[in-house]
Amino acid sequence: MKKFIIISAPSGAGKTSIVRSVLKKVPQLAFSISATTRKKRENEINGKDYFFLTLEEFKKKISEGAFLEWEEVYKDCFYGTLKSEVQRISNKGKTVIFDLDVVGGLKLKKKFIKQSLSIFIMPPSTDILTSRLKSRGTETKETLKMRVHIAKKEMLSKDKFDKVILNEDFSLACKKAKELITNFINLKK
Ligand code: 5GP
Repeated sequence: MKKFIIISAPSGAGKTSIVRSVLKKVPQLAFSISATTRKKRENEINGKDYFFLTLEEFKKKISEGAFLEWEEVYKDCFYGTLKSEVQRISNKGKTVIFDLDVVGGLKLKKKFIKQSLSIFIMPPSTDILTSRLKSRGTETKETLKMRVHIAKKEMLSKDKFDKVILNEDFSLACKKAKELITNFINLKK
């Protein structure tokens, strides 16, 4: 049976760093590269971090039915999971790990209820989340405000996930994530 790992968290909770760490330690996993219309950040690589698309290209893919799920996570900012990514990873015999917003994460969990492990990464507090987002230096005043607002809303959904990991101590959070994921992959179902 194909298995899926769904990781969701508010922006700035440290989800991407935890996913990267787990990917290094669990060789059975492969990351599903999402498509987005968001602007590429300086340190990001097209085709590695995301497939960066124009709004037009994204909408074309929606109409072609190319997405397993997609969301307008922020106003005018679309993100989506490509069916072709899941296929590419499954063809390699690997387990797919998704990094999704809360709505997308819960959508996929519903779709693959028995096959998936969904994990919510919880920041220690809204203040810490805000200062992490600020220190990342990727947001304007407006986008920072919007991300914090959405983060607060997303945290209310944490109990809908199979597991919650508090990211207070980064290495402990990575250890916990690795443990949960390895156990789930090794479970005979
Ligand atoms: P960021 O702009 O910080 O890379 O991502 C913003 C939000 O979009 C994060 O919560 C991230 O998990 C989410 N995201 C990334 N890819 C996808 C996707 O394919 N689908 C959905 N629904 N959300 C995504």
